[in-house]
Amino acid sequence: MRLSRAFLATLKENPAEAQIVSHRLMLRAGLVRQTAAGIYAWLPAGLRVLRNISQIVREEQDALGAQEVLMPTLQPADLWKRSGRYDAYGPEMLRIRDRHERDLLYGPTNEEMITDLFSQAVKSYRELPQVLYHIQWKFRDEVRPRFGVMRGREFLMKDAYSFDASYDDAVATYRRMMLAYLRTFQRLGVKAIPMVADTGPIGGDLSHEFLILAPTGESGVFFDAGFEEQDWLAEQVDTDDHASLGRFFERMTSFYAATDEKHDEAAWDHVPADRRREGRGIEVGHIFYFGRKYTESMGVSVTGPDGEAFHPEMGSYGIGVSRLVGAIIEASHDDNGIIWPDEVAPYRAAILNLKAGDAACDSVCEALYASDPDNLLYDDRGERAGVKFADADLMGHPWQIIVGPRGAAAGTVELKRRSTGERIEVPVADALARIA
Ligand code: ATP
Ligand code: MG
Ligand code: MG
Ligand code: MG
Repeated sequence: MRLSRAFLATLKENPAEAQIVSHRLMLRAGLVRQTAAGIYAWLPAGLRVLRNISQIVREEQDALGAQEVLMPTLQPADLWKRSGRYDAYGPEMLRIRDRHERDLLYGPTNEEMITDLFSQAVKSYRELPQVLYHIQWKFRDEVRPRFGVMRGREFLMKDAYSFDASYDDAVATYRRMMLAYLRTFQRLGVKAIPMVADTGPIGGDLSHEFLILAPTGESGVFFDAGFEEQDWLAEQVDTDDHASLGRFFERMTSFYAATDEKHDEAAWDHVPADRRREGRGIEVGHIFYFGRKYTESMGVSVTGPDGEAFHPEMGSYGIGVSRLVGAIIEASHDDNGIIWPDEVAPYRAAILNLKAGDAACDSVCEALYASDPDNLLYDDRGERAGVKFADADLMGHPWQIIVGPRGAAAGTVELKRRSTGERIEVPVADALARIA
């Protein structure tokens, strides 16, 4: 992309409506614009980040054997009347009536719809397990939408739903999903820590919320720093083997981690003092086993090996894809702007032409840009060098390729790593390989 042609350049001033740093930076870097309270339009660079996050989420869901579907945003109220949640859900649900006076709603989540779809397709235990997911917009009429996309009313969620024949199988599915989440967040370049969460009336310990540390987080968190040293991408787990999944889960849960709601002082005392970490966190994911809650209430069963019908065991698993954009910025920025992790950055690098119009600078920049125009942002504007540096820092590209007249004449460029500020001079021919 040529910055001179970009739809929205950056803002110099801090927008008055933004209370937290990620919201300010998202507006200033031109990622989103609010169109109504808690509802956002995603602009080109913001959309690229949203897509990058979605793609990593998708790959990890696919890898565990989940199948992608796409359910609609609008749902018939009848489905929710069957589960009993239509009245229970309350004012967060946006209720809509069509011209035939039929009640619809903009889906805040999809347990009912997926259970209904499942019941139409699956008749026998032989077809289990099934894990289905989609990445779709949700609407929750939050009382106080705030912090930009972090607590929006319309937001993008990955939600997966599992169906198993037995409790043991459902636990194995839950553990596979846990591993997929750890891998997903690690690939996204964020430290999201799973913390035991309330399971409500079902009980047990099969619900975890994933929190990213940030001072503006809404929950207090307590955790064992040992967790942060784990490399979940290298974790050897035979996901077809319940015992291997069990060992992984035991190791994972051996690190103390809890939000203030579930904090247990007695257990905390057993964590070595130098490993105790306290802070605030933002919920970016939530996984949940809830058994037969919906298959029972909605009357959904399949035939077992003995010919008897039974209600499958279910779980649901959410990731706040649009919230993650804000949460990643909360966790990764400095006074000058965003610091995108490589994996989610809208562009892998910005090319800064410090003297647009200078023949050597222009030709070096054009040649670099032409080698990968989809993934490079070329600042070809006739602005001062200082403006270009400031904008590149603000937009947070992992690398800046700085092209000045002296270097260009000598066949070199400077590479700046956004996260460390480190700069190195390299031959033009090596520049793109160095940032790969
Ligand atoms: P919160 O506690 O923040 O209200 P929740 O517990 O109601 O979230 P879940 O039902 O667990 O949310 O949904 C799964 C994920 O969707 C959450 O972990 C979060 O990342 C995301 N999410 C929920 N509500 C919002 C929202 N209003 N705006 C953006 N993302 C959201
Ligand atoms: Mg909520
Ligand atoms: Mg919550
Ligand atoms: Mg939750």
